[in-house]
Amino acid sequence: MADTTEPFDDVLPEALQRRSPAPLADIGANLTHASFAHDLEPVLRRARAANVTTLIVTGTDREHAEQAVELAQRHPGLHATAGVHPHDASDWNAGLEAAMRELHRRPEVVAVGECGLDFNRNFSTPAEQERAFEAQLGLAAECGKPLFVHERDAGHRLREMLHAWRDDITDAVVHCFTADRATLYGYLDLDLHIGLTGWICDERRGHHLRELVGEIPLNRLMVETDCPYLLPRHLPAKLKGRRHEPALLPWIVQEIAHWYDIDEAELAQATTATARAFFRLADAAMPPSARPRHSAQEEE
Ligand SMILES: [Zn+2]
Repeated sequence: MADTTEPFDDVLPEALQRRSPAPLADIGANLTHASFAHDLEPVLRRARAANVTTLIVTGTDREHAEQAVELAQRHPGLHATAGVHPHDASDWNAGLEAAMRELHRRPEVVAVGECGLDFNRNFSTPAEQERAFEAQLGLAAECGKPLFVHERDAGHRLREMLHAWRDDITDAVVHCFTADRATLYGYLDLDLHIGLTGWICDERRGHHLRELVGEIPLNRLMVETDCPYLLPRHLPAKLKGRRHEPALLPWIVQEIAHWYDIDEAELAQATTATARAFFRLADAAMPPSARPRHSAQEEE
């Protein structure tokens, strides 16, 4: 096919239609969120139009992880994670652990998580969070898949727990990194990966990241929207509904590239290569006019 560029529809204002100069991987897309239930197909089409061709769909509990697996089965370029978020850590029990172990065996599941510690909100108690995270570190050691980790106001304890397991787990990414320099270096010392969101575009609470991004080695850096949350605050036009989506990732990458002092295409290429290696992705990314995987396979 001569022209493989997918056009944008008119849902995103023209000022927000931005195509990445190189294919991007969004490593944190909460596409099982209810806000995507009615228009996932156009959301995925817009992602392709923006050249966001690899999507890691976050599974934050059993139900959402199972939904993420279903999405990954249906759509080329999509992959799932399976874990229990620290907010839901009080649900952890032997039955849930067994269900997670089963999910981690699925080929669609490319990481254990979202799991970790969130001492900012403490929707589950710190003790419950540590118990669930410890168990999921064990599951990651068992299955050999990398960890997708959430941390808020818990950097010190998270680092201690990861340190104890570091030789047993393969890799781990601290997604949506928002902390300070000392915490960053603590993670890099453990040879962890760092995920950056549009937090850096938030003048109220994220501008400290501007001086830090350049200190993250390029081969440890990945990018994500964390959509539908964290709509970047620096976008040049208002978005009706204010729902973040993967097609807006190029705006975040542009901002990170600016503060990293690197060419946007180079940053896009590097973070995508890092993500594909980190999650051990063997398949092709989303083709420009992707059809459901099943029909493509049946034709062969
Ligand atoms: Zn998170």
